[in-house]
Amino acid sequence: MSMNIFGRSDGLEALRLRVRRFVDDEAIPQEDPALAHDLDRLDAVARALREKAKSAGIYAPQLPKALGGLELSWRDRAVVLEELGRSFLGPLAANCAPPDQPNMINLIQLGSPAQKARYLMPLVQGDIRSCFAMTEPAPGAGSDPSMLQTFASRRGGKWVLNGRKWFISGATNAAFAIVLAQTDEGATLFVVDADQLGYRVVRNVPSMDGFQIGGHGEIELRDCELGDEAVLGEVGRGFAYAQARLEPARVSHCMRFIGRASRAMEIAEDYVRTRESFGQPLADLQQVQAMVADSHIDLHASRLMTWHVAALMDAGEPVKEESSMTKVFVSEAVCRVADRAAQMMGALGMSEDTPVSLILRELRPFRIYDGASEVHRASLARRILKSAPRSR
Ligand SMILES: Cc1cc2nc3c(=O)[nH]c(=O)nc-3n(C[C@H](O)[C@H](O)[C@H](O)COP(=O)(O)OP(=O)(O)OC[C@H]3O[C@@H](n4cnc5c(N)ncnc54)[C@H](O)[C@@H]3O)c2cc1C
Repeated sequence: MSMNIFGRSDGLEALRLRVRRFVDDEAIPQEDPALAHDLDRLDAVARALREKAKSAGIYAPQLPKALGGLELSWRDRAVVLEELGRSFLGPLAANCAPPDQPNMINLIQLGSPAQKARYLMPLVQGDIRSCFAMTEPAPGAGSDPSMLQTFASRRGGKWVLNGRKWFISGATNAAFAIVLAQTDEGATLFVVDADQLGYRVVRNVPSMDGFQIGGHGEIELRDCELGDEAVLGEVGRGFAYAQARLEPARVSHCMRFIGRASRAMEIAEDYVRTRESFGQPLADLQQVQAMVADSHIDLHASRLMTWHVAALMDAGEPVKEESSMTKVFVSEAVCRVADRAAQMMGALGMSEDTPVSLILRELRPFRIYDGASEVHRASLARRILKSAPRSR
């Protein structure tokens, strides 16, 4: 297939191969399953890999060159993030993993010069980590952000935050959090230092996925006092800023997870080529062949939808509807692929002797965060049915 029908740059294939070599030689060998839930060791491994990624010239594909990144277009990024995403550790190594990646976007777009110096630059270097705290346990904000209960009130010229957040990825050992809180003037983003009095990561919420740097934290905000310099962007625009970060974030997730699901299928294909049953390789059985074919159809469709959104973003076009449809399709398709990969491998597919079961467990939650499938379907259908009927 010609690469250029998708408008990619000339040097991209060489970069893709460099990334693949890095992932195969540096990231995958570090994927010890015992690392999946060891937050301290995961931080140390990611830190060491980031230095190697810098030397290999594959660091920060999403960042502008002025910040030391590769400044790739979205179309080029789709290819590179897929390659990095073959490994749990690839995006961490290249510093293009969430939540730091979208937090950098927020800080670049909204940060004051002081916030950029203090938070963005060390984040770009990979010296610190961060988290983004929006979701709250019931009865607070979940699928419906307007249920936001964390409140920032004014007291003596300060903001005072009270509330509870949970499932905040990256929270353990993060240097700061970007927190969404309600105010009398509307929802607002605040940058909160992790050592700020009144901010506390209460626990790491045990979850089915692994290799999440900093885990998923539950955070308590109790009389957490902040100055005006902690406001990110404008007071009252928090929902709009949160929405703006979500579109590129969910498309980037699709790119990385297409890589992860393809790797699960590569491993399963190797298995069925050699494993025999009733006198023939599993690969010769039609039901197994159907699982292989259906998975490649799912991956191909996922890539095309993602590449289309990437092209629209490069052209500066709105992608609200397309990114939503793509997120629903890809999150469900990569789950199907990983599930088939595990099925094709029998007991080995359920074990941690290969990464397949961990990939399956990591992909499942993607149908919930960045908007659950049902929420996307509901808003898509609402928009479609509200628009004027098409002439037939
Ligand atoms: C692995 C993981 C990482 C996460 N990381 C972060 C993070 O870093 N920061 C952060 O702020 N949050 C994070 N979250 C939280 C995530 O954003 C929320 O889980 C998500 O918004 C859904 O909210 P909820 O869990 O409260 O589900 P609920 O709102 O309680 O919804 C439960 C289910 O009800 C259904 N549902 C809800 N509303 C509708 C509707 N309108 N129409 C039809 N069906 C509906 C859906 O099936 C949904 O899954 C993370 C979650 C996970 C699982």
